[in-house]
Amino acid sequence: MKSRLKRGLGSLAMTVAIAFAAPVMAADGPTSQDILNDAQSTGDVLSYGLGPWAQRFSPMTQVNSDNVAGLVPVFASSLGGEKQRGQESQPLVYDGTIYVTGSYSRVFAFDSHTGEKKWEYDARLPDGIMPCCDVVNRGAAIHGDKIIFATLDAHLIALNRLTGKVIWNKTIADYQAGYSATAAPLIVNDKVIYGNSGGEFGIVGRVEARDVNTGELIWSRPTVEGNIGMLNGKPNGMTGTLNASWPGDMWKTGGGATWLGGTYDPGTNLIYIGTGNPGPWNSNMRPGDNLYTASTLAIDPDTGVIKWHYQTTPHDGWDFDGVNEFIPFDATIGGKPMKLGAKADRNGYFFVLDRTNGKFISANKFVMETTWANGYNPKTGRPNFIDEDRPGAPNGAEKGKTVFASPSFLGGKNWMPMAYSQATGLFYIPSNDWGMDIWNEPIAYKKGAAYLGAEFTIKPIAPDHIGVLRAMDPTTGKIVWEYKNKAPLWGGVLTTAGNLVFTGTPEGYLKAFDAKTGKELWKFQTGSGVVGSPITWEQDGEQYIAVMSGWGGAVPLWGGEVAKTFKDISQGGSLWVFKLPKH
Ligand code: CA
Ligand code: CA
Repeated sequence: MKSRLKRGLGSLAMTVAIAFAAPVMAADGPTSQDILNDAQSTGDVLSYGLGPWAQRFSPMTQVNSDNVAGLVPVFASSLGGEKQRGQESQPLVYDGTIYVTGSYSRVFAFDSHTGEKKWEYDARLPDGIMPCCDVVNRGAAIHGDKIIFATLDAHLIALNRLTGKVIWNKTIADYQAGYSATAAPLIVNDKVIYGNSGGEFGIVGRVEARDVNTGELIWSRPTVEGNIGMLNGKPNGMTGTLNASWPGDMWKTGGGATWLGGTYDPGTNLIYIGTGNPGPWNSNMRPGDNLYTASTLAIDPDTGVIKWHYQTTPHDGWDFDGVNEFIPFDATIGGKPMKLGAKADRNGYFFVLDRTNGKFISANKFVMETTWANGYNPKTGRPNFIDEDRPGAPNGAEKGKTVFASPSFLGGKNWMPMAYSQATGLFYIPSNDWGMDIWNEPIAYKKGAAYLGAEFTIKPIAPDHIGVLRAMDPTTGKIVWEYKNKAPLWGGVLTTAGNLVFTGTPEGYLKAFDAKTGKELWKFQTGSGVVGSPITWEQDGEQYIAVMSGWGGAVPLWGGEVAKTFKDISQGGSLWVFKLPKH
């Protein structure tokens, strides 16, 4: 009797414990402070870019240039289904789970020890979505009990990270007007901050912040002058000055899509985010600088106010979206320690700015040729345009003068993120050498229709390669080493204190290079092209490396003459995980 009572009490106590544990576990998870510390915490990957600066640098050294040749796969997890295409995602890792986004706005949770699928979420996309450049997604954000990601029909969705069930789902823009979203959101102080895509459809770029717990809008900042910002439901001032750099009403359909998301510097309390091309591509229709397109913006994360801007391509006429990531780093230039930021722009120049105020420090060419400009004026920070390389104005219904321009509109560097090593002081840029014939045509804005006023054909400019992984010294603007690849590079880069640089190739390899010399040290064939961004973390005392494999993205859609370098590559969709064998 006594022992039965005891047993009964025991099981009651257990039931109580479980009932208490469940809600605590569900609300548990990484805080905004944990996310700020992501670069230092090696046991997890809590943000796109491995830290708010997005340097994609890990202090781990267990896998290093002496032993990386022994790296072997642990498992591969398929995304399955008929939906393949480009897998441009960067995985996140937390508490024994790897979270990845997949093509067609899907999210997957895999066991980080076994690769078994825990759950999958498939967004139900309408037929009319208008992604310009494949059905990709670049990654999720994690905060507390939530995994947050953006969809091709311009929604932002928070899922329960343990179950994959929807917590909130918000429309961020009208997909029928050409808006979509593919970038990983950024978490800053319990706000989820994101941009939008659609620069080829006459949309207006915006940066927005929502309450991470409820999904409610806190502020909205349009990136094109003349449009009005919002804060807590009230107007919060015009972006720029009406008609200062745009003619007539063209700012209403002016582009400036913020399609890659941003980085954050806690020291200056600024978000840095790039803006895309002005609309339409035909620059003859919009005389002026067309602010704030093709720029880097520094934004106050509390209010959405623009604190400074730097325009990399004023009056862009080549679709040189300036969306590329702006990566904070500290360095000494001319004997002076400085708080800097760097960006390898689609226009072929590598920019270093003072990240506290946007002051121009330097711009150096990182590709084979830039036909549209001959360097930058160090006093004004403006490009020295080569006027003959601007596509000509159409004459009535007739197309304008065709020009050959390099880089091509797919850029000296496109979306794929570079990395900065605090060990070598070098940036590692996934770049491409290619050009294009481009000409302008008449165009009028029509909701939901392409708004280019231009046509193009991409062409190779070198006999042996298109892709080049380049190591750039940001203090001198010199290329320290380069690795050439036959097909265009389209994946992100990871660097580690183990003197390593990792990146993928369309030919299907994940490769490791010596960070100081560029010597190729290891490669593994994943079965499809690698256009994702690799990560590394520590688990049970061992260093792991993971990357998504799955060929696609903008290149197969728009590659023109260069398509023959990758016509035989198979599609796919798998998460690959590697480590050193146990001794
Ligand atoms: Ca971490
Ligand atoms: Ca564009």
